[in-house]
Amino acid sequence: MEMRTRFAPSPTGFLHIGNFRTALFIYLAAKSLGGKFVLRVEDTDQKREVEGAVAGLLDILGWLGIHFDEGPSAGGRFGPYVQSQRRPIYDKYATELLDKGGAYRCFCTSERLEKMRADQQAKKLPPRYDRTCRHLTDEEIEEKMKAGEPYVIRQKIPEEGEIVVHDELRGDIRFDCADLDDHVLIKSDGMPTYQFASVVDDHTMEMTHVLRGDEWLSSFPKNILLYQAFGWQPPKFAHIPLILNKGGGKLSKRQGDVTVEDYRAKGYLPEAILNFCVLMGWHPKDENEILSLKEMEEKFRLEDIRISPAVFDLEKMDYFNGYYIRHKSWDELVSLCVPHLVADGLIEESGSGYKNLSTGEILSRQFLRGVAALEQERLKKLSDIGEATRFFFEKDLSYEPELLIWKKATAEEVKANLEKSLELLEKVPAEDWTKHSSKDAVVSHIEATGGRMGDYLWPLRVALTGRKASPGPFEVAEVLGKEKSLERLKRAIEKL
Ligand code: GLU
Repeated sequence: MEMRTRFAPSPTGFLHIGNFRTALFIYLAAKSLGGKFVLRVEDTDQKREVEGAVAGLLDILGWLGIHFDEGPSAGGRFGPYVQSQRRPIYDKYATELLDKGGAYRCFCTSERLEKMRADQQAKKLPPRYDRTCRHLTDEEIEEKMKAGEPYVIRQKIPEEGEIVVHDELRGDIRFDCADLDDHVLIKSDGMPTYQFASVVDDHTMEMTHVLRGDEWLSSFPKNILLYQAFGWQPPKFAHIPLILNKGGGKLSKRQGDVTVEDYRAKGYLPEAILNFCVLMGWHPKDENEILSLKEMEEKFRLEDIRISPAVFDLEKMDYFNGYYIRHKSWDELVSLCVPHLVADGLIEESGSGYKNLSTGEILSRQFLRGVAALEQERLKKLSDIGEATRFFFEKDLSYEPELLIWKKATAEEVKANLEKSLELLEKVPAEDWTKHSSKDAVVSHIEATGGRMGDYLWPLRVALTGRKASPGPFEVAEVLGKEKSLERLKRAIEKL
């Protein structure tokens, strides 16, 4: 039998990184077993639905390289794949379940239920429906329906006994039926709850595996009882542990970014997000933690998912992002950095190229490549590129003249050294303006005169960048070009 599994998100707008990790595990389980990966949109809770959420979800997953074999846009023979379009299917199975005695109509008003709950709370009893309507006679039910009384449909859980369910990761788990609630399957507006819709859909869509977050473990016995009530063979279940923050709490917005969209906007690469996420709760058998999506597909085994909660460690994400940034070609890196330079207001698109918004010049691809290449080793996320390289784009650098002064040197000495550097660099031919030639010109003078490197190179670097910390002066000079470099030197001399 073909393996089939699904990712079943509720379309609430953005993709939480924990949900994405679950989606990734489901996708990899499908790929590793040669199965089908299906998207099912669980939108029965219409209040929470956000317009455009499905398109957004497909967009972000597509960006990460995750595609579905079946779903609302991929199609397939088990559609519709959106729960709100499956009402007739739920109606049919709800009627069937009532006929089979696996469920019953409950006419209790919300006032009655509230009072019941308050009483239970006062007596320190667990909150549970007291099963009043379970004992209504057929005549009573008919009467209430005729009178148009609203009702929900509840699952009829066995009153006693034990239910043993099997989780692929945890093995057998035992539940006492007396601890389970007759929960609602169909709401008074006729819409199914998750508990009903997911079972009906997983069955009718012929899912062989259900992988879902372990927050659903407590529903697991009720779901299995529902399969039994219908007389259906349940799929295999695996509950995937939650992701916690470093303090051990739930990963929530209060501690920082939690959606994949946030990370994309900050300039995290899809490769890094995938690699980081796959290691939250799973590990390859060998020690090699750097994994492409293809390698993950080959190495992943469902049974190797760990059941202890995974911990979200942003430093590790930064490490992977830095790694993948370093492995980009310069051209790829430029293309990745440009949107961030635009967002930071340093450049804008102009014809087929880019314009420096400070100077108005049209920038060469070579210049942009030079800028990006200089930061490649250090860059943790693409959105840092603007701040790190702003000085390359600025028309006039603003910095205090004191910054030019290296250690105990006097302003006069620094000025003299900058004048000497200027004189030496002027002699380097423009067509041979490389970091090597400019370095040779300045360093050979320092060596010949027995001067100290810092006395020359510090002011030179500050003159070119206006910063306390930056790449070295000759690397920066190469990217800036001869004309601009000399101009900046002259301006620094004027400051002293
Ligand atoms: N809609 C549920 C959720 O987003 C799906 C759980 C499941 O995969 O069954 O948590």
